Amino acid sequence: MKTFEELGVSAEIRQAIEEMGYEQPMPVQEEVIPYLLGENNDVVALAQTGTGKTAAYGLPLIQKVDISHRVPQSLILCPTRELCLQIAGDLSDYAKYIDGLRVLPVYGGSSIESQIRALKRGVHIIVATPGRLIDLMERKTVSLATVQNVVMDEADEMLDMGFTDSIDAILADVPEERNTLLFSATMSPEISRIAQNYLHDAKEITIGRKNESTNTVKHVAYCVHAKDKYAALKRIVDYYPQIYAIIFCRTRKETQEIADKLMQEGYNADSLHGDLSQAQRDQVMQKFRIRNLQLLVATDVAARGLDVDDLTHVINYGLPDDTESYTHRSGRTGRAGKTGTSIAIINLREKGKLRQIERVIGKKFEAGEMPTGKQICQKQLMKVIDDVEKVKVNEEEIADFMPDVYRKLDWLSKEDLIKRMVSHEFNRFLDYYRDREEIEITSTLDGGRKEKRNKGEKGVKGPRQAEEGYARLFINLGKSDNFFPADLISLLNNHTRGRIAVGRIDLMRNFSFFEVEEGAAKNVLKALNRASWRGRKVSVEVADAADKEPVKGEGKRKGSAKPARTATRAHEQKYSKKDDWKQFFQPGNEFRGPEPDFSEEGWAKRSKKKKK
Ligand code: AMP
Repeated sequence: MKTFEELGVSAEIRQAIEEMGYEQPMPVQEEVIPYLLGENNDVVALAQTGTGKTAAYGLPLIQKVDISHRVPQSLILCPTRELCLQIAGDLSDYAKYIDGLRVLPVYGGSSIESQIRALKRGVHIIVATPGRLIDLMERKTVSLATVQNVVMDEADEMLDMGFTDSIDAILADVPEERNTLLFSATMSPEISRIAQNYLHDAKEITIGRKNESTNTVKHVAYCVHAKDKYAALKRIVDYYPQIYAIIFCRTRKETQEIADKLMQEGYNADSLHGDLSQAQRDQVMQKFRIRNLQLLVATDVAARGLDVDDLTHVINYGLPDDTESYTHRSGRTGRAGKTGTSIAIINLREKGKLRQIERVIGKKFEAGEMPTGKQICQKQLMKVIDDVEKVKVNEEEIADFMPDVYRKLDWLSKEDLIKRMVSHEFNRFLDYYRDREEIEITSTLDGGRKEKRNKGEKGVKGPRQAEEGYARLFINLGKSDNFFPADLISLLNNHTRGRIAVGRIDLMRNFSFFEVEEGAAKNVLKALNRASWRGRKVSVEVADAADKEPVKGEGKRKGSAKPARTATRAHEQKYSKKDDWKQFFQPGNEFRGPEPDFSEEGWAKRSKKKKK
């Protein structure tokens, strides 16, 4: 491995970065720095956040600045205000010993006038979010005619956020004979297009494997029932008393709810999402950065640009829709040579997504074992003891108070005293976990569902019930109609609005069952019952009634407390093309006749009888 000096980094910059604790170059720096210190060199680098990319492009840019010429020489584009401030701050730190070097962050959401004034005074490097820069260009308060280097940092994020046109417009205003550098966590077709259009003979650098989370991150998944998700989160957090983590949620609402619950229950947590004002977000981020906050509950978007290096964990409270967001999330831990854990708390139906993510990161998730109440209490107890052992005693300051304290505790033995001190800290956990039911892990991840049988249960397969949070619906189309999952999805797409989560689909011969998220079931019923499919009228009903009310038309067997049939069975009968069930059962009537045999043999026997 080379030193920064061997890479050609100047003495002033080396002094500054040494003070920042940079001893050795990181791999991306080793590749990029010497190359950029040369002339006319374009670079496409696939590098995640946390790989040291800011210094990789930042150090050469600073070194190449001609201080005597106070005009914009380098432009760095990035997606968010936070990242903009972060980069500008880092560059200023690297340039600590270079007199007169000016770096200006330019971003939306703050006074444009003060940015215009700073531009008028003259700057060497502009770090900008695309929207605000376009605004300044339109006001003719900034000229990019002197820019020799353009860096697009987190280019994939910028495109995701809809900045494609702005980037095109900005690059059109920068002279052709520039260096262009593109940093992205992923290589999408759109990134390739930008690279092809705006870069010349670019050197391609991939840090780590393409699209892979860093090797320092362990990925662990806990598969639990949806109703246990929050309790599982608490257990995991409790099991790691030193945890310093971001908990990612999918929506702003969920983010706030989880943060509120955690705060109410005494956790050192807060929320970060787009419904908060900029000032509130800044405050929370600052609290988190300086570790005044242990748990930050955040949405993906709001957490962008929050640069914190030493997270012990990233917790995915459910998985994001796209695998890229997962890589971004997990890339926030295990940084700067440290190890970290990315935890996913999921339910069974998210297992498919887990597999997709595994393919992209090239790693398997470990199946997490849910810590028991006892294990948690033990961990917390040892944390208390450890803190007591390590606490700094300010002998002089407490000396005056100690005689009173000794007098008050005089009657307690050493053992009693220790027990009381421990309980003082520890009772919160003991109270919570004392009689708490353990949380069931519902899947082994590699195999199927974890077997769960209650005492005395014989394991007889009953009618299927919908997964927690989902409703099971019946539809009068099946495999014999050439009706397959893709057809169901297009029926839903064509007749309902918005995104509807679809769960398990069970295709039968003449009909099918499918699950949709509970909240959407009513709309799906309404919409599909108006629809037709290849000339047939579609009929959809609720099917999830195995141990609930019998569906309309179902009678009760005399003398039996149980419904005669489940809704599922009723649908099977109602829509089966073999109609000899009618001889046993008339909808709306009491159940008469013997229990029909619906097995293959039963059908065979009956059709033989009919033929006779
Ligand atoms: P970045 O990918 O630019 O966000 O950098 C990730 C973190 O690594 C930042 O906190 C940097 O300060 C830190 N860092 C960058 N280069 C080095 C280095 N050579 N040695 C130690 N830390 C570094």
